[in-house]
Amino acid sequence: MLKPLLVQGIEPGGQLTTTTEVENWPGDTEVQGPDLMIRMQDHAEAMGCEIVADIITSLDLSKRPFTAIGDSGTTYTCDSVILATGARAKWLGIPSEEKFKGFGVSACATCDGFFYRGQEIVVVGGGNTAVEEALFLTNFASKVTVIHRRDEFRAEKILQERLFKNPKIEVLWNHTIEEVLGTDNPLGVEAVRAKNVQTGEITEIPCKGFFVAIGHAPASELVKDQLETHMGGYVVTVPGSTATSIPGVFAAGDLTDHVYRQAVTSAGMGCMAALDAERFLAEVE
Ligand code: NAP
Repeated sequence: MLKPLLVQGIEPGGQLTTTTEVENWPGDTEVQGPDLMIRMQDHAEAMGCEIVADIITSLDLSKRPFTAIGDSGTTYTCDSVILATGARAKWLGIPSEEKFKGFGVSACATCDGFFYRGQEIVVVGGGNTAVEEALFLTNFASKVTVIHRRDEFRAEKILQERLFKNPKIEVLWNHTIEEVLGTDNPLGVEAVRAKNVQTGEITEIPCKGFFVAIGHAPASELVKDQLETHMGGYVVTVPGSTATSIPGVFAAGDLTDHVYRQAVTSAGMGCMAALDAERFLAEVE
């Protein structure tokens, strides 16, 4: 009954809308990420949350009421804010990756995997995302090569086991990506050049699709000059709470969590933030 307003941002539903099966959401042995987010939206609306399709372009936390300006031109004011802007995919940062982005280079297997039916694909990374993306891509690709800079994955063991059992997947250990190779006209990827970190030897792996799955960075651009952040932009919260360095401003989920980053832990933090905001508003009144 606090009239909460949720501004959805550029990717409504966030990272769970770009994943497939989720097997660690309590109560569902398996659920599709996008379906889960639709259910969450319906649930929130049924409980009286107003959901607005807009993108916040600036947020002023210097005085209350706080003011946010939307891409639509709308100005929103509020007595308390919960920041839950999440995180987004990281890129390698090499020029050829940028050149072929959208033309063979992608950071989202569920969005783009379909384009590589019967083709060879390279995935770079060694965490859950890389392993899940590689497994998912075997639905389309003739072969998936996972290139990792070390000699072991940090992904969960159950995922690793699935990956090692998959006959379409090969792993190239101890290699970094030097360059994405391709054609200019039409723009398209043909191979990646990888370097052995131990011997310096260069190998070219043919592929039409190159998927970057090397982790995520918090989406804290709106608040990085106003709130305390650490570890590359994660918003700092008071231990055991979602309170930030400004009273009335709370942060939850991947924006603040560089350790767990799971749907269930983020949802738990969302609950904590709602309770913290409710308590704050009651005290202010
Ligand atoms: P992550 O766990 O941080 O793993 C990133 C991987 O990319 C690491 O293996 C890292 O190598 C590698 N890497 C990072 N920068 C690199 C670079 N510049 N060049 C080459 N390799 C690079 O990220 P994530 O896999 O996206 O997972 C993030 C979080 O989301 C994790 O907590 C994960 O458990 C969670 N997640 C959960 C699920 C699920 O529960 N179903 C699914 C997806 C993600 P090093 O190992 O050498 O550091």
